[in-house]
Amino acid sequence: MNADITGINRVIMGRLPHGSDLLDELAAICEREGVNLGQISAIGAMQKARIGYYNQESRRYEHLDINEPVELLSLTGNVSMRDNKIAVHAHVTLADRQCRAFGGHLSQGTVVFACEYVIVGFEGSALHRKYDEKTGLPLWDKP
Ligand code: ZN
Repeated sequence: MNADITGINRVIMGRLPHGSDLLDELAAICEREGVNLGQISAIGAMQKARIGYYNQESRRYEHLDINEPVELLSLTGNVSMRDNKIAVHAHVTLADRQCRAFGGHLSQGTVVFACEYVIVGFEGSALHRKYDEKTGLPLWDKP
């Protein structure tokens, strides 16, 4: 399933508010700026984090809460539609005080200390997420 991308609609670069929820805030910006198809990247520092690992056997996310400050080495993600709402899907690489890296699927509950982001909004037909029987995940499908 491909998006028919015909160009770049807009590029938004900025900083997230201290204390905001990383995932919710990125989705809110996309909503506000009318980006429903796009790419996101970010770096910064988080007060705490919640990341997920998708267990392919049980078909459920297992979450890990990191209740200490961490560096956000890298966030990479995309923007598409799910249930007619803008959905951000992002993965993060974090590092602890000893600069050890780990990461996973970004979940709500990751709180911004400071964060710089770039959102690239594409011109083209939106991609829609639908439940996929094979994986149990909401994957891109025909609209
Ligand atoms: Zn994921």
